[in-house]
Amino acid sequence: MIKEIVFSTKERRELVNITSNIQEIVADSNIKTGICLVFIPHATAAIMINEDERGLKEDIEKLLDSWIPEINWQHNQIDNNAGAHLASAFIGQSRLIPINNGRLLLGNWQEIFLAELDGPRTNRKVNIVCISDKN
Ligand code: ZN
Repeated sequence: MIKEIVFSTKERRELVNITSNIQEIVADSNIKTGICLVFIPHATAAIMINEDERGLKEDIEKLLDSWIPEINWQHNQIDNNAGAHLASAFIGQSRLIPINNGRLLLGNWQEIFLAELDGPRTNRKVNIVCISDKN
């Protein structure tokens, strides 16, 4: 079964911690061992896993600002957000996380983020699919 959660973002670039939302869906699935797919159906956002530490999140946002230079990208002629598309393409739209003992098997310092790259937006969807290792 596919679950969908919808988020609003407030900033142009923003990391939204969605771990507890995903953990809740994993718990509701009653799956003890398996995998959880977290997928974002958008071309200007991404899914990342890392530590939820304010300085690090600012570092990631700073990297996003400097990583893709503001040059004359062709897509900017359409809606002026080529940088967001390029970052989304290279960070990726999904992550797979193991489920163990009915919970996401994340490391101590790992959290799941919706990476907003072209906000603010009111309708950012995240799709979650949990699959058991048993039939
Ligand atoms: Zn665009």
